[in-house]
Amino acid sequence: MSKAHFTTWLKNTFIYSMEEGQVVIGVPNAFTQAWLEKKYHKAILGALQNTTDGEVKKAVYRVAAAGLPEKEDICERSPSACPDSGFVGQGEEKVPSIASKSPCGLNPRYVFSNFVVGKGNELAHAACQAATNHPGIKYNPLFLYGGVGLGKTHLIQAIGHEFAKRYSHKKILYINAERFTNEYVQAIRNGKIKEFKSTYRNVGLLLVDDIQFIAGKEGTQEEFFHTFNDLHQKNSQIVLTSDRPPKAIPALEERLTSRFEWGMIVDVTSPDLETRIAILSSKLEEKKYRLDKDIVQYVAANIQSNVRELEGALNKIIAYHELYNIAPTLESTKNILSSLVSSGRKKFAVTPRQLLRTVSDFYEIRLDDLTGNSRKKMLVVPRQITMYLLRKELECSYPAIGHELGGRDHTTAMHAYNKIEKEIGNEGRIKQEIDLIRQRLYN
Ligand code: ADP
Ligand code: MG
Repeated sequence: MSKAHFTTWLKNTFIYSMEEGQVVIGVPNAFTQAWLEKKYHKAILGALQNTTDGEVKKAVYRVAAAGLPEKEDICERSPSACPDSGFVGQGEEKVPSIASKSPCGLNPRYVFSNFVVGKGNELAHAACQAATNHPGIKYNPLFLYGGVGLGKTHLIQAIGHEFAKRYSHKKILYINAERFTNEYVQAIRNGKIKEFKSTYRNVGLLLVDDIQFIAGKEGTQEEFFHTFNDLHQKNSQIVLTSDRPPKAIPALEERLTSRFEWGMIVDVTSPDLETRIAILSSKLEEKKYRLDKDIVQYVAANIQSNVRELEGALNKIIAYHELYNIAPTLESTKNILSSLVSSGRKKFAVTPRQLLRTVSDFYEIRLDDLTGNSRKKMLVVPRQITMYLLRKELECSYPAIGHELGGRDHTTAMHAYNKIEKEIGNEGRIKQEIDLIRQRLYN
């Protein structure tokens, strides 16, 4: 399943109990429960049976709080329960230091001062600073979009930190859209909708990460629409991030799309080589670790897709050399990274099936529809993009492509390839979407 679906439906579930062949799966809310029962039950039961050698016979779902330590959990679980100075919200990652003075829910590492500015993010960075300098006026809302691991969460949280410093009397709320959805559903269930509204409407700064997750969820979109209007009217600053521009988010209501376009929309793209080197140097400094220039150069040249991977590679190198207590050399670094680099090998590790699934997940259409015969535009374009990518990325033959796409003629595949190739030249939405699909494919 796609990462987005995993995050939405499975990430917050856990094994509640397991007795006599029956597994009880803990889920955060009734909404998730219904969804899992309806859509994923077979796959979940199958996976459980596989991992237990058939011991599991039955799986049921129950709404329950995860067995996480209370302390760590407090800010994440309920914004309104957050104790300190008017900060409410939740972090994508756990905030490591309890003693940190960071606003509740913001990761203390995600600040402007350690964000390396370069080609690919300079415009986004400038817009974030402008929104902080003139909140609610200059760019409202500010909408950041781009592929995974490129620094969107870092930037949106950096705004939170800076805002907290400058306007300490104003409330800040950082949340991702998935959590917003969960809390909204929970609030309705518990008859706490009034409290929910007042939490979200009494802030000077609202930061919503990964807003694409509210797409397709009617009630949540409606609620967010009113929250948005209310805050915008009061000149409260709103900042949103997403993996794609508003217009390209499927199943997002038109009135929200148009509001998201009111302010400033800016993209974050992959860093160029120079920026990657600068990022590595900055992370090395932070970690107080030394690597020779040629090693840094090698890592930056070979890990190209995103900053998260770059950081991951660096951590791997450091951990390895610290474990064996040896000094890093170019040779040892190459060995460690051999599984991560070599884009050639990586490409061929992707199968046509995976590519088809990535495209259908990206456009949120069914695999059957992607390979089917319907001529609806919402299906035709993804189908052509699939054919294009099968050729471009996997180097499939045209007859093989026709076969993968439900037994089409090779001339259809050729036509699709040429059409998309031409579209890409126009540097428009199609190109952006293909870049995002590529990123998903190789991440
Ligand atoms: P996204 O939200 O776009 O998926 P993140 O903000 O989570 O990406 O970034 C992934 C990691 O890379 C984080 O640890 C972040 O601190 C780091 N990172 C991304 N861009 C930069 C940058 N320009 N300078 C320093 N660190 C960065
Ligand atoms: Mg993020």
